[in-house]
Amino acid sequence: MLEPGQSWKTAALKATKCVYLLLCVGDTVDKYIEECLKEAKKSLKTDDVPIGAVIVQNGKIIGRGHNTREKEKLVTRHAEINALEQACKKKKDWYLNDCEIYVTLEPCPMCLNALAQARISKIYYLTARDKIEHVKEPIKEQCAGTKEAQQLLSNFFKAKRIKSRK
Ligand SMILES: [Zn+2]
Repeated sequence: MLEPGQSWKTAALKATKCVYLLLCVGDTVDKYIEECLKEAKKSLKTDDVPIGAVIVQNGKIIGRGHNTREKEKLVTRHAEINALEQACKKKKDWYLNDCEIYVTLEPCPMCLNALAQARISKIYYLTARDKIEHVKEPIKEQCAGTKEAQQLLSNFFKAKRIKSRK
């Protein structure tokens, strides 16, 4: 439950010990960044907003997901939810306290709460949602992959705008 004046983000994070981080230069997680970008690109095939996620346990990817909202015509089919489903199936447990997630875009409130419910230990994201949610992050340098994640999104929306003008 949100307390007066409390943002959804603070509330979700208060409910768990989850660490929430924007990836920075020098973070040695290149292979996971690459994998979640690969997932994001899969969304493009079905005209879905390109967002990808991977869930990692002990250095091993146990869940992958990309946004399939258009493909499945289901509003909850975000990359993180799809990755969560796969990870829970693989682990045969909903409790993912020894796992972390890498996602190309900062999670929305629905996904953040689902990740918190799953007790995921760390959330790493490539690009902030500040333009949408007006959440300001502390000044951080871009890491490898941030530019690509942003480019994927801006190209997608640019193409959509051109199409809708025709
Ligand atoms: Zn989401």
